[in-house]
Amino acid sequence: MRAVTVTPGVANTLRLIEDQPEPAPEEGSILVEALAVGICGTDHEIISGEYGEAPPGADRLVIGHESLGRVLEDPTGTLQPGDLVAGVVRHPDPVPCSNCAVGEWDMCRNGQFTEHGIKGLAGFARDRWRLQPRFAVKLDPTLSRVGVLLEPTSVVAKAWDHIERIGHRAEWQPQTVLVTGAGPIGLLAALLATQRGLAVHVLDRATEGPKPELVAALGATYHAVPVNDLPFEPDVVVECTGAPTVVLDVMCKAGPTGIVCLAGVSSGGRSIDFDAGALNRALVLENNVVFGSVNANRRHWDLAVEALTRADQGWLGSLLTRRVPVEAYTEAYTAGPDDIKVVLEFAS
Ligand code: BGC
Repeated sequence: MRAVTVTPGVANTLRLIEDQPEPAPEEGSILVEALAVGICGTDHEIISGEYGEAPPGADRLVIGHESLGRVLEDPTGTLQPGDLVAGVVRHPDPVPCSNCAVGEWDMCRNGQFTEHGIKGLAGFARDRWRLQPRFAVKLDPTLSRVGVLLEPTSVVAKAWDHIERIGHRAEWQPQTVLVTGAGPIGLLAALLATQRGLAVHVLDRATEGPKPELVAALGATYHAVPVNDLPFEPDVVVECTGAPTVVLDVMCKAGPTGIVCLAGVSSGGRSIDFDAGALNRALVLENNVVFGSVNANRRHWDLAVEALTRADQGWLGSLLTRRVPVEAYTEAYTAGPDDIKVVLEFAS
């Protein structure tokens, strides 16, 4: 069967191979036919050789961690043939650490977790894959066009879950949210903020292209100005750019008792001059919290299904700016100027 693969750690090794073996029964009892795979910044990092790890004993890694498929067979009866399904990305570490032991693998403490299409586990960019029932997330048939957004939605569902847990350390009545970065993660974070009835502001560099309209369609306010020029102090910030100056600016910008969730991964290696003492003073004197958030556990995947089901399907569909058949995979993995989410399509 077909699979999109790379040699991890080596740039420009992206290939569509035709002789990928069928998924082994040990991968799970649920056999799934691939429908679509979403592409994100992590895939680009893997393709450029900066990230990613092949399964033990293999040279190549099948990529793709944002999945949507259709069940072909499930002898356990958990799912029915024809059901739409997505696969949970991360599997717990084998030790397991105290968090993985209770299903909180998104909070793994020893780094020995594995991730489909990223770290030590074959990904979903192949014609067929298998899942164990606990890693299989069923989607309603109404999500057939946009269900590939479930994985990035699970990531922001986790971010919001943790924001709310932190918020409840005291009386929690947030009103204003700032999301920095209007890519798929930022836009989905803004969607979940509007679903919570908050006043949502999204900041991005783009003044053209689809982003301003997508934000307006959510009932949120779009800003293409520096963070310091915003005329308000947000109660919550979800930082999705990973751009060092934006990260530092939002930490300073949050209002008293503000919560800043860092969800964008920076590349590192660039130093900037910064007054750390002033930042510390502001955080301490205002009881602010800055925290990082990555990945999602099963509970967050289930919350993500609810969020996508409640959302306007037309709006979700407009995030999928390019759908590319797997045969033209190189086009899919070449970033375009107006891309929000590019999707690789398998079977129809
Ligand atoms: C994925 C996460 C993963 C992270 C780090 C992200 O792109 O969405 O599931 O944990 O990369 O590998």
